[in-house]
Amino acid sequence: MTHPAQPKASHFINGEYVEDTAGTPIPVIYAATGEQIATVYAATPTIVEQALSTAKAAQKEWAKMTGTERGRILRRAADIMRERNHELSVLETYDTGKPLQETLVADATSGADALEYFGGLAASLTGEHIPLGEDWVYTKREALGLCVGIGAWNYPTQIACWKGAPALACGNSMVFKPSETTPLCALKVAEILIEAGAPAGIYNVVQGMGEVGASLVTDPRVDKVSLTGSVPTGKKVYAAAAEGMKHVTMELGGKSPLIIFDDADIDNAVGGAINGNFYSSGQVCSNGTRVFVQKGIKEKFLARLAERTGNAILGDPMDEATSFGPMVTENQMNIVLGYIEKGKAEGARLICGGNRADKDGFFIEPTVFADVTDEMTIAREEIFGPVMSVLDFETEEEVVARANDTEFGLSAGVFTKDFTRAHRVIGNLEAGSCFINSYNDAPVEAPFGGVKASGVGRENSKEAIKHFSQVKSVYVRMGDVEAAF
Ligand code: NAD
Repeated sequence: MTHPAQPKASHFINGEYVEDTAGTPIPVIYAATGEQIATVYAATPTIVEQALSTAKAAQKEWAKMTGTERGRILRRAADIMRERNHELSVLETYDTGKPLQETLVADATSGADALEYFGGLAASLTGEHIPLGEDWVYTKREALGLCVGIGAWNYPTQIACWKGAPALACGNSMVFKPSETTPLCALKVAEILIEAGAPAGIYNVVQGMGEVGASLVTDPRVDKVSLTGSVPTGKKVYAAAAEGMKHVTMELGGKSPLIIFDDADIDNAVGGAINGNFYSSGQVCSNGTRVFVQKGIKEKFLARLAERTGNAILGDPMDEATSFGPMVTENQMNIVLGYIEKGKAEGARLICGGNRADKDGFFIEPTVFADVTDEMTIAREEIFGPVMSVLDFETEEEVVARANDTEFGLSAGVFTKDFTRAHRVIGNLEAGSCFINSYNDAPVEAPFGGVKASGVGRENSKEAIKHFSQVKSVYVRMGDVEAAF
């Protein structure tokens, strides 16, 4: 019997599911059991061509619609996503292995927020009037044209919407390539947009590995590329986009600092560290994986952290009581286990976890290392799994310098009751998305993105509009034209 997660076909182009079994088969493995639950096929050059030519052709008419009309469609899509939240959350859990307890509140709901927010903004995207005596300039905010979205595997529904919603609101069309690891959810987003009344062809989904992504990025018809992925992939995609002078948004990796001062509320700080390391089993780009704890509260913090981490419920992700799921793939599990071994070998003190869980699927216990030093591999490299490194510090000046001593700059957090210190420290940290007495909140109203190697551009908020549109300026002369001859 076909598994309920198996999509009707691999791709969604011009308003319909499309199949081409000549492409490389991509198995979809359910991370909680290791079973294959679906198969899709990588896009062949014919499929890529269909998607790009369709999106190119559909964009002009879409951009001609009023912002109010476009926005209405996006907001209708948001409503449909909310109505179908349970079904979409189950699919997200099959795609990623994340527990339903999380997916019910963080994935289709977050996608719906983006559709609703950018749907609401669509009608307000205007230019300005600049008086110049008798003459004047007016500006128009115009679409970029055809945008390509390329996703990572940790938030397949959210990423498809965070890229699609602002792109479409601005009058662009999109070809979206999900991660080959999680190909299922973006197809539903495409289907729902059509159900909401979107014209066929403005949001298309094609499957495939990096080479399909690369063929989209280099196509001359493409005006913009928005990637969520690792830094090495980001460098390749940014360089390829630069060849064609295309716009880019790069949402890449991180190794973010979470700084906890002696005066912090311990339980809130522990909660922040848990949210910043163990949500989605640690597979979150903005995670605060370097937890700097001031010496005075270190042992108290570690004791409370170990106690609360012990309350994580590992198990069937479809059981809403489960609060901690598996790694997305066997490969990712092995990478993370490798980092845990390095942590042990380089002399970090294991506080809890540290092993593969004794279960089917790709589960790793939530793991905390203390006495981690800045040079250790686990403190330098992005692990993308449930491995928290706790480092000691004494002074504010010292911790800020150490926190910034990394190529990454996605997020940063600080826990303290001293508000002047909180704002001063955040002001001195090199990071794009920051938190005070909290960690990992990502409302659509707030800009999201990194500095340094963690990325270029911002998603969400009004900032995203700037990255999916461009300004045309028009000088209007009211009098005669003067010329030298
Ligand atoms: P990845 O870099 O391996 O792949 C990302 C996507 O890029 C995939 O769809 C892949 O097929 C595609 N790709 C690979 N090579 C390509 C190429 N040459 N041209 C075009 N496309 C190509 O990343 P991943 O393993 O799927 O995801 C994990 C990484 O993503 C982590 O580093 C994580 O921090 C990052 N991430 C960042 C954010 C953010 O918003 N900043 C969010 C989630 C994940």
